[in-house]
Amino acid sequence: MKEQIYWLVRLSEIDDAASSVQQELSDLPTQLEETRTSHSRLQLLLEGEKKQLAEAEALLLQQKQEAAEIGERLSRAKGKGAKAQNAREMEAAEREMDGLRRNARDKEEEQERLNAAIGEKRETMAGRQAKFDDFAALYEKEKASAEKRIAELQAELAEKTQGRDNYVGQLPKTLFKRYERIRTKMGNAVVEAKDGTCMGCRLQLPPQQYNLLFRGNEVDQCPQCVRILFVRDAIAEFYVSDPNYQAPPAQEAEEGAPEVVDAEKTVTATSEA
Ligand SMILES: [Zn+2]
Repeated sequence: MKEQIYWLVRLSEIDDAASSVQQELSDLPTQLEETRTSHSRLQLLLEGEKKQLAEAEALLLQQKQEAAEIGERLSRAKGKGAKAQNAREMEAAEREMDGLRRNARDKEEEQERLNAAIGEKRETMAGRQAKFDDFAALYEKEKASAEKRIAELQAELAEKTQGRDNYVGQLPKTLFKRYERIRTKMGNAVVEAKDGTCMGCRLQLPPQQYNLLFRGNEVDQCPQCVRILFVRDAIAEFYVSDPNYQAPPAQEAEEGAPEVVDAEKTVTATSEA
């Protein structure tokens, strides 16, 4: 059982050391996704405006064709007026021409309105297109740097989690699942019990529980923060005999158990974070 506690501690040391890398790795795609969403929203907006512009241009063309037709009808009406045989025919031709002239004026006004609207739309679209181009360039840049950073982080993560599988493989499945459950909930799953206190949440542990932790006969959890507890002395021997454990180079010393000192620092630092 003591050995299982040691494997849990090692697993936790590895995971705690890798947690900031893991966090950044999971945050990066989210950030990029946000930019990508803005990018497609802008693109959609721009496409909508392009469509509106095309519609206005089609309408203008139609108005011009109709104006030309009115022009033709007007010249025909004029011809009729010139050939009028009597006052009644003359009057009818005049009335027709008045109507057509009014029509022509309306079409002219409509064309002016459309021309103005098209001009305005072209201008706003040019501005929007420029902004979109800037944004697209920014997005590409962001994407490239995120991809580069993700590759770096993955390499870093692989390095930091080296040997993790060894410890996972040693643990009973249910215990590993419990470890992962606590880690997901609390950020870190294993903390030291020191001077009668849980170093994860600072709870003063019941003396009997603290005493039992020294024996290391069972995997016990803090009654308050539910993290798995261990007492350093109960597992210190395993660091020395563990072929998968490498003491950090800076911590090499002759006396005592230097690895343990370093591990303690790691655990304390992360549990306080
Ligand atoms: Zn606690």
